[in-house]
This record gives sequence, C-alpha cells and structure tokens, in this order.
Amino acid sequence: MKRTSRDIRTANRYEVLRQIIAESPTSRQELAAATGLSLATVATLVGELLDLRMITEVGFEDSAGGRPRGLVAVNASGGALIGVDIAETYVHVELFDLALNVLARADEDMRPGESRPEQVVGHVAAAVGSVVAQAGVEAARVLGVGVSVPGQVDRDTGVAEYAPNWNWHDVPLLDLLAEHIAYPLHLDNPLRACAVAELWFGAARGRGDAVVVNLGTGVGAGLALGGGLHRGVSNSAGEWGHTTLVLDGRLCHCGNHGCVETYVGAPGIMQNLRELSPQSPLLHPEDQTATVDALARAVAANDPVAVKVVRDTARYLGAGISDLINLLNPEVVVLSSWVASRLGEPLLGEVRAAVARHALRRPLAATEIVLSPIPTDPVSLGAATFALEGALQSVGQRAGTKRTTTPTRSRTAPPS
Ligand SMILES: [Zn+2]
Repeated sequence: MKRTSRDIRTANRYEVLRQIIAESPTSRQELAAATGLSLATVATLVGELLDLRMITEVGFEDSAGGRPRGLVAVNASGGALIGVDIAETYVHVELFDLALNVLARADEDMRPGESRPEQVVGHVAAAVGSVVAQAGVEAARVLGVGVSVPGQVDRDTGVAEYAPNWNWHDVPLLDLLAEHIAYPLHLDNPLRACAVAELWFGAARGRGDAVVVNLGTGVGAGLALGGGLHRGVSNSAGEWGHTTLVLDGRLCHCGNHGCVETYVGAPGIMQNLRELSPQSPLLHPEDQTATVDALARAVAANDPVAVKVVRDTARYLGAGISDLINLLNPEVVVLSSWVASRLGEPLLGEVRAAVARHALRRPLAATEIVLSPIPTDPVSLGAATFALEGALQSVGQRAGTKRTTTPTRSRTAPPS
C-alpha cells in the first residue's frame, strides 16, 4: 500500500508526540534533532498538538547566546485514554492520562463457558464504566477506547473475524460495544497492541526494526519495521505462533500440527512439563496461570524439573526466534506478555543461549534480546495507544480534506 502524504504527516505527528511524552519538557530544537524532522515541520506539528491541548507551553530555557527556547511538555490532564485487554480468561481495563499514567484499573473474570459475544461485551462495558467512575474524569475528556481481542480482527470494520479459543467467527464486536460505550472505539489484537506499546513506550522506541514476541496463552510476533507497525496487506502479519516448528508435531487449535504456539504458549509449556514429569506437583491441570507461577517459583528455588522445563521451552523458543532474526534482521527482540514477565530472567538467559546456537552470526550480532521494560500490562497500554493514535489521526482528517460524514471509528489505516 502506498503511503500518502497524510500518512506521513500522521506518522510524524506520532513521532513528535512520542518524543514529547518520553522527554518532557523539551524544545522544538531538541525535537527536530531527536526525530530528524526539519525545525519548520516540528513547529507545525507542535502547533497542532498545542491546539489539541495534548501538550502545553511550560516556559523557556536559555540557549547559549541565542534567543531563549520555548519548552513544551505533555499535558497529562488534557485527555484520558482507555485500554481494554480482552483475554481468554479475563477482561482487564486501564484508564490513562495523556502522559500514559494509569489512573484507574478494573478487572472482570470470565469463567469457562462465558465467552459468548454478549457476555464478553457486558464485562467490557462494566469495566469501562468502572474506570471512568473511579478516575472521576468527565466523559468529554475520554478521547477514545482501544480494544484488544485475541485472534484475527478487521480493524476497519471492527469485526473479530476469528477467535480460535472461543470459536468466534465474524463477530461485529465494535458495533456491539458501541451500544454500551459512547466513546470512539478502536479494535485490534494483542500482538499489535504489545508491539505498539513497545514502539511508543518500551524497548522498540527509537529503534528501526523490532520484533515483539508475545508469550501468553497464544503466541505471536508483533513487527515494528521501519519505525512503524507492520500489519501486512490484511492486518495478519506476525502470526508466527502458527508457523511450523515440528513437522507432524503437536496438534494446534488452528488445525495444523507442530505450530510454535503448541510448544511455547502457556498450554504448550504445561505440555512440556507433563511430558517430563506427568505427576509433577507444579502442574495445575486446569490453570495456566497457576502452573506458570509455580514453575517460576520452582526455578527460583533451583528445582531441577522446573529448570529443565524452562530450558526445553527456551530451546523451542530459541529456534523460532532465530527464524525471526534471520528473516528480519531486527535491532531488538522483545519478550513480552504475561508468560515472559513471569518466567523473567531465567527464561531470557536460556533463550539467548538457544538463539546463539541457531541464528546466523551476522544478524545475531546486530540483535539484542530483552524482556519488555513496560511495567504495566502492555496489552492495555497498547490498546490505549490505538485510541491515542486514533485521536491524532482524526485531527489530520479534520485539518485536511473536509468530510461530510464524521467517521465514528478509525476507518483508514494509519502507519502507526
Ligand atoms: Zn497453529
């Protein structure tokens, strides 16, 4: 897809705001130096962000001999953003200010069998209502709600096309949510939410090419290439979890055999444990979170079974990550999502060792493998970032070609 001049302007607007959020207060000169944009372009974009009240002027700094430079900073109270993380077993919602500080959180548990679309929508609506009430923000200040749902999504139509764990097919999720939630809504999936979170606030910020490996119940790779999110032609790029790691291997719910996900997703890790030690007390058969937590504690206590399970998992993961490194030559590979954060440093060390055995030397030498530095839930942060991007994009639409119909949702694809 060709990038239009409006796409480029939107991308530049993201870049400038990203830099202001990271380095407030800052001057137009520093922004130009950090982003590589001209001072004139930065001045225009800063003007737009000031008009939006997303940033404010906060005084001057002396510049050696020259005129004092005006400083700008993010206007934390200039708006609120909501990020919704719909997972297989819970709905987690966070409300952020514009500096992306969390002002309120709400959780809803979903029991097995509670996964009909209306039930999920009910949980989301309740949690969104709860965070708005807790934070005490005026409804008018909520700039948007980003929603992450597992599986394949059509972000332009707001349809959850396929959620394998729930057997959802073509669920018009945003239309259902719009019956309960009056704010602008934006839909995408956890892969891209985690990638955008890293791109704006984490280990991919300022990096040219980054791969965000999402290790949860499902597994995938968010691709931040050329400084922006790579979506592919139908928003499906990054389904690395369903690439074949073992010919004729474990059956995957996608219908294939031997997918990466079946060895390194939470259920796959449980299977690794079960195959090594069927009667292990670490195994909580119906509870992925409890099993991964038990493994993490046992590794810390040097339990040989747990250490071996993490090593086995890292061997599969290392082979799969080496493919990504050889294929994409990224600057950084980020291990993200709840399984990576719970298994932490021991998993990271084993993955680095395994990757070193598989990846080609030249791309490997250019790649750093790290744990996500994002302290909060990266999926809700990334989902909120979609809402922020949507708000920035709609500015472009208002300022650019005049539209007679107001888009209720983000219908054009921005270059994140
Ligand atoms: Zn699969």
